[in-house]
Amino acid sequence: MMQLLATSKKELLLVNQANKPNYHYANVMIEHMPIGIAIYDAQEFRLLEANALFLASLNTFLDLHWHNEQIIGRSITEFGSWLFPLGISDIFYSVAETGQPYRAEEMAAYTIQGQLTFWNWTLDCIRDSAGSVSHVVQTLIEVTTQVQARQSYLATEADSPAEAERKRLEVIEIVERSVRELMDTQRIGAIAIDAIQTYFHPDFISLHTADNDQRMYHLLCVHVPPDSKQIVSSLQQVPFTSSLLLAQTAQHRQPLFLADLQAAVKVGRIDQQHPLIKKKMRGFICTPLWFGDQLEGVLTAAFSQVIQPTGPEMRTFLSIGTHIAAALAQARLHVDIQNRQMRLHSVLDQLPEGIIIAEIVSGSIDYANPAAGRLLRLPLPQLIGTPVHRFAQSYASSSQAGIEFPTISWNFFLIQALSGETVRSKETTIIHSDGSQVSMLVSAAPLYTSYDGNQVMTGAVMVFQDITAQKSIEQHKNEFLSIANHELRTPITIIQGFAELLKLEETNTALNDFTRSALAHIIDQSEHLARLIKAMLDVSRIEHEQFELKLATHDLLPIITHIVKSQAIMLKYHHIHLRLEGLQETATLIGTFDKERVVQVINNLINNAIKYSPEGGEIEVGLQAIAEVRHPDRYREVLIWVKDQGIGIAPDEIPHIFERFHRARTLDRSFSGFGIGLYIVKEIITRHSGRVWVESTVGVGSTFYIRFPLKIY
Ligand code: ADP
Repeated sequence: MMQLLATSKKELLLVNQANKPNYHYANVMIEHMPIGIAIYDAQEFRLLEANALFLASLNTFLDLHWHNEQIIGRSITEFGSWLFPLGISDIFYSVAETGQPYRAEEMAAYTIQGQLTFWNWTLDCIRDSAGSVSHVVQTLIEVTTQVQARQSYLATEADSPAEAERKRLEVIEIVERSVRELMDTQRIGAIAIDAIQTYFHPDFISLHTADNDQRMYHLLCVHVPPDSKQIVSSLQQVPFTSSLLLAQTAQHRQPLFLADLQAAVKVGRIDQQHPLIKKKMRGFICTPLWFGDQLEGVLTAAFSQVIQPTGPEMRTFLSIGTHIAAALAQARLHVDIQNRQMRLHSVLDQLPEGIIIAEIVSGSIDYANPAAGRLLRLPLPQLIGTPVHRFAQSYASSSQAGIEFPTISWNFFLIQALSGETVRSKETTIIHSDGSQVSMLVSAAPLYTSYDGNQVMTGAVMVFQDITAQKSIEQHKNEFLSIANHELRTPITIIQGFAELLKLEETNTALNDFTRSALAHIIDQSEHLARLIKAMLDVSRIEHEQFELKLATHDLLPIITHIVKSQAIMLKYHHIHLRLEGLQETATLIGTFDKERVVQVINNLINNAIKYSPEGGEIEVGLQAIAEVRHPDRYREVLIWVKDQGIGIAPDEIPHIFERFHRARTLDRSFSGFGIGLYIVKEIITRHSGRVWVESTVGVGSTFYIRFPLKIY
């Protein structure tokens, strides 16, 4: 038979009955025992020696990342979150004090990875020659597999005899159900506390939620013994840094278990004045409620009787902690979403644009802001909750309002968006019941939510604004333009006619130099004026959808050659040339296009190239034809470019220069112009199913490109 004897740390040996030291075998045996074994001094409980299995077990609980050699020599109070919070230090004290051995079976404990494990462990005393306790020996063996096997057996057995286990499962089920069904933290808390109270009768239970912003625990629910007003008020708001047990425990991931609070007072762990001590509480459990990395709250209970570490109370708390944490997290996220939604709605409520959000499943309106109600002249309660398709605007009302063509009802755009389409800046007319009309600019888009990594459509939003005032200004402007065009064209034609007549006279009558130059100016400026009026008329036609192409079959090459030649004759400070890329001068580029308009486009680009290169320079008109894939001698598309060495265009202006009335912001105003030339160029080329764009560098020059098909289908 072997026995343990102690003298000093180094002399602690396994000896045989005949007291014959057997150093060699003792060490090897201890190291290879399938049980963790360690020895501490009985004063400060410093770990003096431990075998490999013990150290490995200990390391699964310590989040301090000590190496084995760093653990040796430390007191158990330094082991922190595993041993200390579970009240094991109390057991060490009492074993050392009384000399009575301690046996714990199936004690529950969390590893640093958060796994629940179960352990059998013992504490035994070693006495010195004078008979006083000098060391304590701890053994440790993990029984998780056995406990779990039994638990799952009990859980599946319908007529389980284990009443405690039944209670535990019952409480877990109640809490789990409330997690699934409820979003209200208050009710989740009340249900959890009620279930624990019904099955385990603790005298005190409290549930706090953690407010990580304010670093404070707020009391959610509490059950207290009679006359505990003071306890309740001291628990209302508990700062994270409070010295209360619940605040200290929550900082760790592990629950705090104290078999007997009164014993903890004796060893100085808890103050005599602690309210729970005054209420004669004994068993104590405190579980921090972690959901992932988020601390959601703390659940605390105290019992008037001593409780066991392996008892059903502790095991129940360990299990329901996760569920309550999940419930609180879910409720918190729900409140977060609601708050965000409220904030968003309060912003949308203030917007002058009408906003309507429809939900995909029922197709009904979820939200409409006051502006939407005002613009549609429908009370919000009538809008919200009603399926989108119910708002059809009848064609009859359009004809009553004097509109010949049926207008698109506003809800149609929302229906389009609900079917996944995006609608951008569409105009429509809304006819109110009194026959009045409002012009609306509508945009609508489907709404998507990310769900399990996929984008799922959840609804659609429509934004609209009243553009009646702008429309009527626009209409007046267009009417004015078209009248002005007609009124100006007649006198200018007459001026040009007489000027041409006078020029013819020049051959008969000798004109003096001044008259000749004045006549040249009259002809030049009246031509310029005629071009401007023509351009304005074009704009007005485009606006009124009266801009039509006169398509016919032409050969493009001679047309462009002619333009370049006639421009070359007139140029004084510039030089212009035609560059044919991959084309012979004799090539034919037969296509269907409006000759007059194409000439207008190229002249416009050449005139701009001249105007915006005040220093003179080279102007290149280029032409390249793109052959058909199957017939290399037939051309399907042309690319024309006009390149100058002028002032260039700033990058931020480039996207805008084709807009109506747009002129570069930094442009020297001595360059005459209206900002409509390129707008007309774009309209003409687009109507030929083509594209126009520019590449430019400030101070170097610009190249305008046009690409269009020779045949328009
Ligand atoms: P306008 O020349 O009458 O102002 P356009 O519509 O022809 O109107 O041109 C719009 C604007 O684009 C011009 O005001 C000018 O800022 C810029 N732009 C056009 N062509 C050129 C060019 N070749 N070089 C530099 N800037 C140009």
